[in-house]
Amino acid sequence: MQKLRYESPVIQKMNAGLMNKYGTRTEYEPVKQIDGVSVRSMIEQYGSPLFVISERTIRRTYQHTVRAFKTRYPKVQFAWSYKTNYINAVCKVFHQEGSWAEVVSGFEYKKALGNNVPGNKIIFNGPEKTTEELTLAIQNDSLIHIDHFEELYQLIELSEKLNTKSRVAIRVNMDTGIYPMWDRFGFNYENGQAWNAINKIVASGKLQLTGLHCHIGTFMLSTEAYRIAVQKLGDLAWNAKTQLNTAIQYLDLGGGLPSSNTLRGAYLPGADTIPSVDEFAEAITDALYKIGFNANELPLLILESGRALIDDAGYLLGTVLANKRLSDGRRATILDFGVNILFTSFWYEHKISPAQDFTHHTEDMVLYGPLCMNIDVVRQSVNLPLLNRGDQVVVHKVGAYNMTQWMQFIQMRPNVILIDEKGETHLIRESEDLAYIELKEKMPAHLQQINL
Ligand SMILES: *Cc1c(COP(=O)(O)O)cnc(C)c1O
Repeated sequence: MQKLRYESPVIQKMNAGLMNKYGTRTEYEPVKQIDGVSVRSMIEQYGSPLFVISERTIRRTYQHTVRAFKTRYPKVQFAWSYKTNYINAVCKVFHQEGSWAEVVSGFEYKKALGNNVPGNKIIFNGPEKTTEELTLAIQNDSLIHIDHFEELYQLIELSEKLNTKSRVAIRVNMDTGIYPMWDRFGFNYENGQAWNAINKIVASGKLQLTGLHCHIGTFMLSTEAYRIAVQKLGDLAWNAKTQLNTAIQYLDLGGGLPSSNTLRGAYLPGADTIPSVDEFAEAITDALYKIGFNANELPLLILESGRALIDDAGYLLGTVLANKRLSDGRRATILDFGVNILFTSFWYEHKISPAQDFTHHTEDMVLYGPLCMNIDVVRQSVNLPLLNRGDQVVVHKVGAYNMTQWMQFIQMRPNVILIDEKGETHLIRESEDLAYIELKEKMPAHLQQINL
């Protein structure tokens, strides 16, 4: 029999602060495998920490989401938001499913081309697009979403020079009842700038106004906000048709649908509180039918969902480094991953599961990462079974924004693997090493020598 571990006793003040009227959470199940592949074996083979992506979950989530819209509205197209997770293998799963690409920078644009997305199926968003990038996008017949008047004027000039009527949309920002309002991107609806931009595009005769775009926020909890967004874009589209004789071919509602993560400070787990994708689809498509278009002139609905499509498919595996008692008596557990690779721990209370059997003694604890930095807190307060050095944990729903916003700070980025639908694992991004990190550094000649 294995020798039991001794933990010295401590006296702790009772803390009822975490209890709410629904009681404390008691869902402690060890998570020993993902899609049938053992956590222990993945860490053995690929090291710890380790990002794991489930191809099966991506495809299921995508198909479920598309179905919610396509069963309600005849013309729907999704475009994968590259910045949410632009590891090429992940993008390719979405493209195989039929998703176009939505990019917000020149390098993302080139990544989409490199993934063999046809130029006319790339949506180019964002406030910064260089002359070279815009030229490439025009030549490839991409959908260019204009962010500001400077870009609009430049596009008129470039289209004239290249003798091409480039396909453009404007990004529209608006009051949808969500505050703070995201009014820094695109043209404002309420103050008339959006309508003004539409007029300028049509009057120029140099551009094709193909669509209208908005992206009203992220992790939206209100279906009503999308209904208002459709009404306002619909109003612009209707006026373009009736006053400017310009048929808008698509309305792009952007991203922003929530994943089932729990926001920091939320009273209840996200999975119990966020509206379902069907409720969002119902609000959006219902408002689309009410704009007033005939059945044969209904605009294409484009969606650029990011986090809602990938969060659930991502896991982070890690290992316990140490435990300690803080000065106030709280238990602290130190893990081998922190905010450097789990950026979303600033927003979410990520669910964390032990990956092996445990005793049912639990305690409120703080989970720290390995960085020599005070901000490196994975969970400020979480009730978990006691974890020991070498124990493994699984962090859930980390597929969105971590593999793009991760920092090469103090520690290097780990391996990322994909579990395919047959349960085979594939390395899709190799962990970094010193040579990789120093690849772009240059040493001036006078600093070559040191004499200590
Ligand atoms: C970030 C972004 C998205 C994806 O947003 P999610 O909130 O992850 O769905 C879509 N469109 C644009 C323009 C974006 O900037």
